[in-house]
Amino acid sequence: MPEEAKNFIERIIEEDLEKGTYGGRVHTRFPPEPNGYMHIGHAQSVVINFGLARKYGGKCNLRFDDTNPLTESQEYVDAFKRDIKWLGYEWDGEYYASDYFDKLYEFAVTLIKKGLAYVDSLPPEKIKEYRGAWDEPGRESPYRNRSVEENLELFERMRRGEFQEGECVLRAKIDMRSSNMNLRDPVLYRIIHAPHYRQGEKWCIYPTYDMAHGQCDALEGITHSICTLEFEDHRPLYEWLLKAIGLPEPHPKQIEFARLNLTYTVLSKRRLIELIEEGYVTGWDDPRMPTISGMRRRGYPPEAIRDFCTRIGVSKVNARRDLGLLEECVRDHLNKTAPRRLAVLRPLKVVIENYPEGQVEYLEAINNPEDPEAGTRKVPFSREIYIEREDFLEEPPPKFYRLAPGREVRLRYAYFIKCVDVIKDENGEVVELRCTYDPATKGGHAPDGRKVKATIHWVSAAHAVDAEVRLYDRLFSVEDPTDVPEGVDWKVNVNPKSLEVLYPCKLEPSLQDAKPGERFQFERLGYFCVDPDSTPERLVFNRTVPLKDRWAKAPSPRT
Ligand code: ATP
Ligand code: MG
Repeated sequence: MPEEAKNFIERIIEEDLEKGTYGGRVHTRFPPEPNGYMHIGHAQSVVINFGLARKYGGKCNLRFDDTNPLTESQEYVDAFKRDIKWLGYEWDGEYYASDYFDKLYEFAVTLIKKGLAYVDSLPPEKIKEYRGAWDEPGRESPYRNRSVEENLELFERMRRGEFQEGECVLRAKIDMRSSNMNLRDPVLYRIIHAPHYRQGEKWCIYPTYDMAHGQCDALEGITHSICTLEFEDHRPLYEWLLKAIGLPEPHPKQIEFARLNLTYTVLSKRRLIELIEEGYVTGWDDPRMPTISGMRRRGYPPEAIRDFCTRIGVSKVNARRDLGLLEECVRDHLNKTAPRRLAVLRPLKVVIENYPEGQVEYLEAINNPEDPEAGTRKVPFSREIYIEREDFLEEPPPKFYRLAPGREVRLRYAYFIKCVDVIKDENGEVVELRCTYDPATKGGHAPDGRKVKATIHWVSAAHAVDAEVRLYDRLFSVEDPTDVPEGVDWKVNVNPKSLEVLYPCKLEPSLQDAKPGERFQFERLGYFCVDPDSTPERLVFNRTVPLKDRWAKAPSPRT
């Protein structure tokens, strides 16, 4: 194997290891805000952060970046923890930005005492106006030169709850003319009169992301603080604060990479919440959601998600990655691991006229051709079976090789059958086929060497178990769902046909005992897994991903 090309983050880390910058330590962290569920974008960050710690014998913390009491909750914390573990990672330390609130308050006081922070009493819209624009320098607030004593007193009164929200904020005193907007006296603390899910009523002032993040990194001894590109312009502030507060050196190093975007998907907790609240999906774990809980429910194996994140790698350039690549990773993994089963989604009854009534044969079926250890099982065969409606056409076009009047096909693991009659209802719809079988073709080969062009799947009618099957399609019908004209609701791009529910589908009887979470390949149809809604009385399967038909001659039914 050629030596793997190193990505730019690994090169930075290896340079630090060589120089001994952090005494040979590598310590990363994954810092989710618990204001929603973990999605595939977070998974990329998890794979990067935990992966680097593993690769360099270092550590990776889990830190909840919980500085906004209005949107955060314990439910989200628990969900993140569950999903990270399910992905296959164990964190070294579990921390909460909110546990550092006392420390961060002290740091703010330090900045005030050094003359590097002040309480600004400008109203929010004025603060915004005074900040200027990228092509226009900002103006200094009239409160910028308050004395240290006055600032200390005002900040203390902010903490005690003596002001309304928006009445004042604490700002860093940096440079209102800086070309970097983040350095134009950024807000460090704001007043929010709301209880915090961990801190209760203890605080009514909350640190901003910038005030919290780097300081938490430093307190935990993080060496490489990896975040997404939007924070590139915050890096000078990250570094300024560590220095201004006087945190011990060497300071952690912020490194940015391009966040993951996927085609036909949105990856922002805010937008995902909108989809839930407006009823486009049933919840965070709806199998159409790009969340880890949705993907788990849909049947994506954690290995496939990790593999996808590894394959896309880290980049400095924002781009939209192909959802198809993720599905390919899912297929690759399931192909190796998922037991094969016979299932008919849209059943059409077939009566085999010359097969003895009351006879049942148990035919040997291969569990997984990719895995000889998976062995075989027995599937019952009898006079009445179901086949897929789409595997029969009364007037077959050229290249349709499956069943048609007078035509012979192979039943997987069983016999050749030939269609001898078509039974229709009063509307002319085909409701049943009459066929004959050739007993000499047991196992799928004719002793006289005659060939059939298609092999189709089937289930014995008397033995079949009924199930509900949910077929999912992309949640959005365009590659970039957020690309809509001004004033248009981005949700116009929701695919109205993203869910199709089929019932009753007919499954081979061994599936009766399948448990929620179990994954299978339904031959010729795709990969499916048992939904948590499933009960022994009403089995429910989700289609994880369709299959590219590997039985070359029988084109896959369109499902
Ligand atoms: P969202 O809008 O989805 O909430 P966020 O960046 O605000 O995204 P956080 O919970 O703050 O979400 O992110 C936790 C970590 O995961 C951060 O380090 C962030 O950079 C990373 N992350 C979030 N979304 C993505 C993404 N799409 N691709 C890569 N990393 C991401
Ligand atoms: Mg966020």
